Amino acid sequence: MRLTENDLAPLNRRFEGAPPLDLLRFVAETFGDRAAILSSMQQAGAALCALADRAGLPFDVLFVDTGVLHAETLQTRDALARTHPNLRVITLHPEHSFAEQTRREGLLYLSKEGQERCCDLRKSAPLRRVKGRYDALVSALRRGEGGARARVQPFSIDQEQNALRVHPLHAVDRPGLDALVALDGVVLNPLHAMGFPTIGCFPCTTPVLPDEPERAGRWRHLTSVTYCGINPVDRDAHEDGIDLHDRYQALLATADQR
Ligand code: SF4
Repeated sequence: MRLTENDLAPLNRRFEGAPPLDLLRFVAETFGDRAAILSSMQQAGAALCALADRAGLPFDVLFVDTGVLHAETLQTRDALARTHPNLRVITLHPEHSFAEQTRREGLLYLSKEGQERCCDLRKSAPLRRVKGRYDALVSALRRGEGGARARVQPFSIDQEQNALRVHPLHAVDRPGLDALVALDGVVLNPLHAMGFPTIGCFPCTTPVLPDEPERAGRWRHLTSVTYCGINPVDRDAHEDGIDLHDRYQALLATADQR
């Protein structure tokens, strides 16, 4: 039996526009330690982590250290782990160091095809190595970011991980995010105050000018690249479905009852 996007429709109707904390609570109650927050230590993810911690929800937080992140991003990870006692920050790593990868395959990030492989090796592959450990992965995508993310739903399927993706911030607009970020206890990556609206690996991230789109600083050297592909919605992937198990059946039944 497979769980498909169509099966999630009642759940998505139930949680459309719901406050982010309602979704976080629902996921924590339903999945317990089989749920995790994905964070790259940018402001939206940090706001989600602070919400969960303040509510006493004991999520694992998965952070992928690609080996080529800014020092500020690693310091943000450490500060978040130190100041959010209810969360357990887990750092995932690629198989090879960036130097070893470059020795084997060259400087991949300098071409579009190479970037796809580099992002897969350094971002997606570490996450694939925990496949099976989690049934629900929570991330900070918002419709207000535009592009493919404009159609993000509260719940979606991640076939690659055989897990649900959960988006508590799906309906949060820019002022709403600013308000969440301003709350006490949100650990902000200092790079945001240095002209980086979004943050990734240092070889592929620059500051942006005031009149540029927020993501103009990502892969600036490759004109047609906007996302790394770790999120199914950005991959524009057709997700056929994931294995249906008891926990998902219970979750769908709960949605029907509400
Ligand atoms: S963002 Fe750049 S350096 Fe980082 S994994 Fe992707 S291509 Fe490689």
